[in-house]
Amino acid sequence: MFAQSLIRRTGQGWKLLVGWLTSALGLVLLALIVGGVLRTNTPAATLGLLVLGVLVGAGGLTWTAVSVRCVACGERLVWRTIRTYGWADWLPQLLAIRDCPRCGGTS
Ligand SMILES: [Zn+2]
Repeated sequence: MFAQSLIRRTGQGWKLLVGWLTSALGLVLLALIVGGVLRTNTPAATLGLLVLGVLVGAGGLTWTAVSVRCVACGERLVWRTIRTYGWADWLPQLLAIRDCPRCGGTS
């Protein structure tokens, strides 16, 4: 399925990987702070790390949503797929896209 995907054919799979790794890094950072593994000397420093974790995680999600685009028309393919199919089904639907749902572009 992924071999025929528009994402793969346009060489944008790395953007998904970068977004997911960044989001995972944010989640790991939050888990380490909340779990008490990563400790600081002041509440302000702990709050700062929490904010950093949220920003890193949200940055990864945002990166994924806006960076994967149709080469022909610039449609944000991840964002469009999330809006259309919801959070539960967006990934398989995204990987099944063979042409742009907006302009019909195939590369
Ligand atoms: Zn397009």
